[in-house]
Amino acid sequence: MNHLNISLPKWVDSFLAESLNIIPEPEAQMRFVLTLTERNIREKTGGPFGSAVFEIKTGKLVSVGVNVVVAENCSAAHAEMMALMLAQQELGNYDLGAEGFPAHRLVTSGKMCAMCLGNVCWSGVTEVLSSAEPEDVEGITGFDEGPTPPDYNNQLLRRGINIVPEMLRDEGRAVLQLYVDLDGPVYNGRANS
Ligand SMILES: [Zn+2]
Repeated sequence: MNHLNISLPKWVDSFLAESLNIIPEPEAQMRFVLTLTERNIREKTGGPFGSAVFEIKTGKLVSVGVNVVVAENCSAAHAEMMALMLAQQELGNYDLGAEGFPAHRLVTSGKMCAMCLGNVCWSGVTEVLSSAEPEDVEGITGFDEGPTPPDYNNQLLRRGINIVPEMLRDEGRAVLQLYVDLDGPVYNGRANS
């Protein structure tokens, strides 16, 4: 093996074909992401997490991501990672904040885990909107969020990344609960002990 080929589920194509590709209002962007996440749960194509990258000024949708860890045999295939990597491929640049690009934001159904927080710092996005909090993810589903820093928000702010947490948090929690109600698998690499 000397290359990677990691795909979003097939239903994403029709989902996007039926969706607006410009969503200017931040709360509407979050509702879009939560709908995407719910679809991933109902289709049973991955964990209860969804994300999207938007241009901040215009609301243009650049990419989406859902969790495809199990389907793609890849522990890194979290929703945020997929959305950021696909946006970078779409724009042909590892830095979404490169000169000449409009500012981009990541909208995500749950606040980033340790891995995704790192990638956000290096992705070039300048804003993050998140819904469910780490304690929601861990308390409702049992997924591990990893060793995130206690000064989480400040670590982002120090790098010029604004974060707006707890947007539509109740709706974000409800999506997590749906996953549990539908007996979605929890696949942490190791037990939290
Ligand atoms: Zn993650």
